[in-house]
Amino acid sequence: MSGAASKTTAPKFAFFDLDNTLVDQSGALREWAEHFVADRGLDPAAVDFLAVKSSNAVTWTEYAADFKRHFQLADSVEQLVRDVTDTYPRYFVLDDAVADGLRLLRAEGWRLGIVTNGATTMQSAKIDQVGLRDLVDGVYISEAEGSRKPERRIFEQAAAKLGVQLGQRNGWMVGDTLDADIAGGLSAGLRTVWLQGDYALSAVDPEPHHICTSIADALKLLADA
Ligand SMILES: [Mg+2]
Repeated sequence: MSGAASKTTAPKFAFFDLDNTLVDQSGALREWAEHFVADRGLDPAAVDFLAVKSSNAVTWTEYAADFKRHFQLADSVEQLVRDVTDTYPRYFVLDDAVADGLRLLRAEGWRLGIVTNGATTMQSAKIDQVGLRDLVDGVYISEAEGSRKPERRIFEQAAAKLGVQLGQRNGWMVGDTLDADIAGGLSAGLRTVWLQGDYALSAVDPEPHHICTSIADALKLLADA
């Protein structure tokens, strides 16, 4: 695009987590699980078993090995991993409010990046499934960057590639995970927005600058910043 702002002030920028921040990872996994359980004729209760996997807690191999054992499936672990990783990204959707919010920020001169922990193939598949790549200026995936949230290094690399500087008041990090997104954002000198989700915590540690109940609200907060 032409017309890049040539202001003397540094551009505003924001990094966003992907899973359960820009997209509803839990909802997508549950939808995949419902289809898988129906296809296999498994007990419907199996959906609850399969629908629980944080994107970072265990590998897909561990996840597949666990459900192979639990449901005594004949498939190899490798085949199950392929089943999940090939089909689960297709269940991701992007809310119009998120797309509109990102477009608005960019129209106002913000530089936007996705900083996500995970495997390059999987995270890329989700991002491309919902068309997020065109809505941001850069995508930074831990496997590709060789560093993961909350390490400051991944933010330094993302900032360098995005052409922005950390440690000023014009940079933001938005995410749903305190340990990775908020701790990482704070260590990188960013203003932080925590998407509280269903958590009901009496003490929030580390403490974000802002708490929002939805990504749409977080995008509005940034637009007014
Ligand atoms: Mg997340």
